Amino acid sequence: MTERLLLQGALAVTPAAVRLCARCGHMTGAVAHACRACGHQGSRAHTRRLLVWDRPSDTPVLAREDIHAHHARPPHHLLTIAQNVPQRLILSRTRDHGISLAPLGLDGLVLDPRAGLHIAVLAAAARHGADRPVMTVTENAAANIAAYGTLFRRHHGTRLRYALHGRIPYDDPAGLHRLCDVHRVSPPLRELFLTWFLPLCSLHLRAGIPAAQLPGLLKFWRRAHLARLARPDTPEGELLAELRRRVAAGDMRWVMDVRTLSRAIPEDPVTHGSPNEPEGAS
Ligand SMILES: [Zn+2]
Repeated sequence: MTERLLLQGALAVTPAAVRLCARCGHMTGAVAHACRACGHQGSRAHTRRLLVWDRPSDTPVLAREDIHAHHARPPHHLLTIAQNVPQRLILSRTRDHGISLAPLGLDGLVLDPRAGLHIAVLAAAARHGADRPVMTVTENAAANIAAYGTLFRRHHGTRLRYALHGRIPYDDPAGLHRLCDVHRVSPPLRELFLTWFLPLCSLHLRAGIPAAQLPGLLKFWRRAHLARLARPDTPEGELLAELRRRVAAGDMRWVMDVRTLSRAIPEDPVTHGSPNEPEGAS
């Protein structure tokens, strides 16, 4: 993607003035600030060849159409924040990990991870044969990465969109485990709560899930799981089709409807969770 964008003239490799950490040499960016690699305060000026995107002034970095189900609730202030970026974006960075830009003659530099992230999602989508990939992201994160993804959200007719979700209070895993014990939620059900139900909730509660709401959500989750045992009147296929229609339209209210939720709970335990991790591991 980067090579094609270079050939098209959208990106350029050009000498640019940057600041390097005076202690470890990490590139801190176009303006001087404390080193993110080692914390050192001092930096020195340096000019070197870098991968840059000089954004045409009439190019928005984020449009409403870049948000999945944007008609549900247009995030006006997000569009404004994302727009507040320098006219020249530096897309090459000094980092240990990332997509190497050495093939472009930029030894020791990798593609900025805020751009690389979009490529990773497109690659995963291609592997799964998904032609309408949606990347789940908080509003804050979207504001930080959107500009860097402007040229990296489309590839071979595939368009990557963001689905905005609220923050999930995962900060205190030990506390969450205790809470589950108090409410007699079994470890498999707890994993499903953490890795399946809370992420879905966060798509509905876009302002974030307050930690104080967790006990209530846990009780609700237990009720939904019990309701699941009382089996259905509507055929499974019809229910799934209806759920898919609502999700595509950005309508996640069904997550808070105990009957609908109970029918959507996956039969098989989630396998990407962390059921074997010791108490307190994050
Ligand atoms: Zn440093």
